[in-house]
Formats: sequence, C-alpha cells, structure tokens
Amino acid sequence: MTPTRTLREPLERLYREFDYGARVGRDALQFPLRYADPRDREIVALLTACLAYGRVDLFGRELDGALRAMGASPFRFVIDFELARDARAFDGFRYRFNRPPDLVAFCVAAREILLRHGSLEKCFTAGDPDGRGPIGPALERFARAFLEADLRLVFPRGRRSRGYRHLFPLPSAGGPCKRLHLFLRWMVRREPPDFGLWTAISPARLLIPVDTHVENISRAIGLTRRRSRNWRMAEEITGRLAAIDPADPVKYDFALCHKRMSGDCLDRRDATVCAPCGFKPVCRHWKGGVRRATAGT
Ligand code: SF4
Repeated sequence: MTPTRTLREPLERLYREFDYGARVGRDALQFPLRYADPRDREIVALLTACLAYGRVDLFGRELDGALRAMGASPFRFVIDFELARDARAFDGFRYRFNRPPDLVAFCVAAREILLRHGSLEKCFTAGDPDGRGPIGPALERFARAFLEADLRLVFPRGRRSRGYRHLFPLPSAGGPCKRLHLFLRWMVRREPPDFGLWTAISPARLLIPVDTHVENISRAIGLTRRRSRNWRMAEEITGRLAAIDPADPVKYDFALCHKRMSGDCLDRRDATVCAPCGFKPVCRHWKGGVRRATAGT
C-alpha cells in the first residue's frame, strides 16, 4: 500500500483546494442544508442519508416530494405525526426498495425516539455511554432504536418491510453502512460542508462512508487493497487517513468522492484527466509511468 508520507501532501492539497461550493448542489447534503433549524436539519439529514442509495438526482426527486409533504418543519411534522391522519402523506412515493409505508414507519419510529430522548443526538449518545472507542456499537444501537420501535400499526403482521429494514443497515452484519456513516459525518464534523451539530461525538471516531466512488479512488491511490466493500474496508481506509489527520480522518471523504463522481478521476489512466491530479505519483494506474506513458498506454 502507498506509504502515508507520500499520501499526506496530495490529500491535504485536495482537501484544501477542493471547490466545495460547486459540488454541494449535486450532493445529498443539499437536502438537509435547506433547513436552518437544527431540529429540522437533523431529521431531514437522517431521512436523506437513509435514502441515499443510488444517484442523487434519482432518490432526490422522490425525497423532494416527501419533504414537501412534511411542510415547512419536518421536525414538527414528525413530532405531531398521527397515523390515522398523516399516513397518506407519502402516497405516490416510489424509490427502488422503498414505498410509502417505509416513510410512515420512519416517522412513527422517529416520533417515538424524539419524544423519549428529545433529539436524535441524545438517542445516539444514550447508546454511547463512554463517548469513546470504536463507533460501531453505538451506531448499532442507534439503528436498532429505529428497527425495534413499536411499528405494529404500520406493519400489522409484525414483520418490518424489506424497504424499512434497508433504511437502517446494522454494523454487526459487516456491510460498509455507508449511509449511516454519511449521516454521522454530516452531523459530527465541524467544518463545512458538514454541519457540526452533534458536539458530543469526536470526529476522530468516525468511519469513512465507502460508496463505489470512494472505493475506486481509495484503491487507485493505495488506501486499501481489499476487494470487498464492507465494514473492514471502511476501517482500513479510515485508519490510513487517521495516520495523516487523527483528529478528523474523514475530512477527505467529500472531495475524494466528488473527484471520482464528477469525472475528475476516471479510475483509469487518462493523460488529459490525470494531468492535474496530485495523486499521479502514487496512483496504481500510473505505476511504471514513464515507460507506459511513452508507449501511449
Ligand atoms: S492519477 Fe488519474 S486515475 Fe489516478 S487518482 Fe488521479 S485522476 Fe484518478
């Protein structure tokens, strides 16, 4: 794998020089950013992250409709949610695995949690009593709070729908849990484009949300050699990044993800696209570069 000392400079430069403003409008965090009240932003951030599988423009269209149905204050909508009155609010919602009852169940569970704890942050910290160590157990308890909420009125036969279960992946299943880590990054990191609303959790404990873009570029620049995108890959990449910035290892996530997503990295050797890239000296696609470049490969 690429030595840390050779990754530090290009990673720091990418983080410092990245044009965040140009990309925020194409990122899922545009949805919670619409809300100034931290209580609205928190609940919208969770709903957005839960649905953030697939392309932003595709799930964003459906999410837009759901947010319109929730009115000016999604927090108030959830707190005041009454099944008999509000269950039809999401009629027409369709996004891949998810259907209207999944969003209804989200509101019922979120209401129960908010009434018990006061905020999603307090729910999370209730399951994180030490406030240190690996984030996995606390994230598991947070996801379980939603999965194990009383949803008998939404799912009368007692079995949560596949779509609802898909909203809350469990760390114990070993997957990367990208959407939950994304939610945590938004809430915990103190610097833009993230919100820094959850002050009880240290950014040093976060794991990187590994999607296909982060996976590809991480492999290209030698942050991981793992073949499977899973929890251990997220730990490995984060561990490499923590060797560069232990206080805030996932700060590079947005820029790495968008560099790949925007086409500024094609995950292959391309003389034009790669020309300005600071990772060229460490990129696996340019290993043995001079000879292969001369050959025009
Ligand atoms: S050198 Fe090219 S392929 Fe490698 S990370 Fe940079 S843009 Fe991507």
